[in-house]
Amino acid sequence: MSAPQIPGWNHISSGKIRDLYVKEDDPDQLLVVTSDRISAFDFVLDTVIPDKGKILTQLSKWWFDQLNIENHVISMDVPEQVAGRAMICERLEMFPVECVARGYLTGSGLAEYRKDGTVCGIELEDGLTEASRLSKPIFTPAAKAEVGEHDENVSFERVVEMVGEDVAAALRGATLNIYSQAAELALERGIILADTKFEFGARPDGSLVLADEVLTPDSSRFWPADQWEEGKPTPSFDKQYVRDWLTSEESGWDRNSGENPPALPAEVVEKTRARYIEAYEVLTGEKFSA
Ligand code: ATP
Ligand code: MG
Repeated sequence: MSAPQIPGWNHISSGKIRDLYVKEDDPDQLLVVTSDRISAFDFVLDTVIPDKGKILTQLSKWWFDQLNIENHVISMDVPEQVAGRAMICERLEMFPVECVARGYLTGSGLAEYRKDGTVCGIELEDGLTEASRLSKPIFTPAAKAEVGEHDENVSFERVVEMVGEDVAAALRGATLNIYSQAAELALERGIILADTKFEFGARPDGSLVLADEVLTPDSSRFWPADQWEEGKPTPSFDKQYVRDWLTSEESGWDRNSGENPPALPAEVVEKTRARYIEAYEVLTGEKFSA
């Protein structure tokens, strides 16, 4: 996963999906380039999903424009070579907290609830099950893990230890606020926002800014509202085809072997690409053009 060279910009780091560059003549500006890479089970796969980087970038941009909160976008006027898949952003001091909001119970939240009756230490009522709607959305933070490690769900008290009480409260408030704005908007389009993850950073003056990607299929569980049924897993607009294929016998891959997953078949790539495009088009009401 080598990041391309971009004149005028210095590559500083690469995450699983994004390559980050700093402007040569202005260290406060960041070029965030979203690749077509896809990850599953914390592995970056060898196969890319054509146009995924553009879809995620354009969907994030659309959400930033809808949401009533300060965000890191400066401009979409990026070097031609990364057109459509990059944004120029304010370079922020990122908080090491994945700010997750959940309105429905599934995944790691459901697993903890079944074990302890809590999610990230928050006690929930009895009798909840797969895909249950929570009586009110909850803030379920995770500590950002090192590359290849799984993010770890933590309690609010742990976030207070990490960033202090005031910032922790501000992160929780902003997360729940954006979640409800977005969930309402998505539902108008027939999509349930089951849960989502935000990342925030601070400006030099300490003010909180929404950063990274927002409300994409990589950071969120979007469910078709007409397919949601309490007690049953809901198909989501994301990498489900990839996960299903990787865990099927056909792939020949053992998730616990520690080995890298095999390349994806063309059909899985195409279906996954179509799913990302569908999410973009249903949410924004616009046609995706690469
Ligand atoms: P994943 O999201 O799959 O867990 P990752 O977190 O390693 O992987 P990527 O999404 O590939 O990361 O890369 C984006 C990186 O850029 C993240 O580390 C994120 O915290 C950081 N980032 C996003 N916006 C800003 C910003 N405005 N200033 C500084 N860093 C940012
Ligand atoms: Mg990320």
